[in-house]
Amino acid sequence: MAHLRPPIAAAVLVAAGTSLLLAQAVVRTADPIKRGLKESDFPRTVKVSDNVYTYEDFHAGDEKFTTTNMFVVTSDGVIVADAQGSPAATRGLVDAIAKVTPKPIKYVIICSDHGDHTAGNASLPADVTYIIHPTSKAILDRAQNSWKPPSNAVLVADKKSFTLGGETFEVAFLGRAHTGGDLAVWLPRRKVLFLSEIFLNRVFPAMRSAYPTEWLKALDRAESYKADIYIAGHGFTETGPVSREEIVAYHKAMQAVIAEAKRLHDAGVPVDDAIKQANFGEYAQWTLSKSQGPIAIRKVYEELDGKLK
Ligand SMILES: [Zn+2]
Repeated sequence: MAHLRPPIAAAVLVAAGTSLLLAQAVVRTADPIKRGLKESDFPRTVKVSDNVYTYEDFHAGDEKFTTTNMFVVTSDGVIVADAQGSPAATRGLVDAIAKVTPKPIKYVIICSDHGDHTAGNASLPADVTYIIHPTSKAILDRAQNSWKPPSNAVLVADKKSFTLGGETFEVAFLGRAHTGGDLAVWLPRRKVLFLSEIFLNRVFPAMRSAYPTEWLKALDRAESYKADIYIAGHGFTETGPVSREEIVAYHKAMQAVIAEAKRLHDAGVPVDDAIKQANFGEYAQWTLSKSQGPIAIRKVYEELDGKLK
């Protein structure tokens, strides 16, 4: 029997561990408690569309928010976009997929090369085909203590379509954004666009490895897909209408953070003082603002000073 969650929640449980999105009012936040959820509700699988699911588990650290992966079930196997940050957490993703389908995982798309999306990849089946941007492959190849993509990984530098079990999926590089090798996955039949870390849902723009103004252009390209549902790599999976508002909200947050850093830079404020003076307005309430605000100021200064290659 379906168990109805309080009206504040986005999802209703339809099977053990699987949630179905409902068009209900949700609190726009990445924080599970403010959202009306319990920590024990995670990890969870969310049904997005026919045969399309997300898997949400908590990112490491005290401030709770989800790392969100997508998987697509086809008659010939499963397509996975991103995984979790440890072998145990990615084992959870593999087990969650097995609860939905007995079909094997065939493709894994590395949309973000960061450890919180790749460090658990040893738990994925050994015979999957990895798809990765050449920049991300180079980053992982030279990083210490990271998971390494196999030498036969398929490189996508721009755009490439694949078909599995009648489902076409297009892997696209929308420009440098959060990592420099950011890939998106477009499901044309479902009008679903998985954006990984190009879209952080109510999580403060995280710029440690970012290209701030190029990221804005990547968001323009993402919005030009006119997707029914946009899926973020961090933060909750939303219903279509909410996701379409939230990608715009994220785009505005990026613009506001970049504009605030530029204002301080133009006023000649040294970067260490700019970090103290920065006023992020409503975005100071977003998850990770305290840790990511200073990093964003430094990165925008770097770009404005021509130090970002
Ligand atoms: Zn991440």
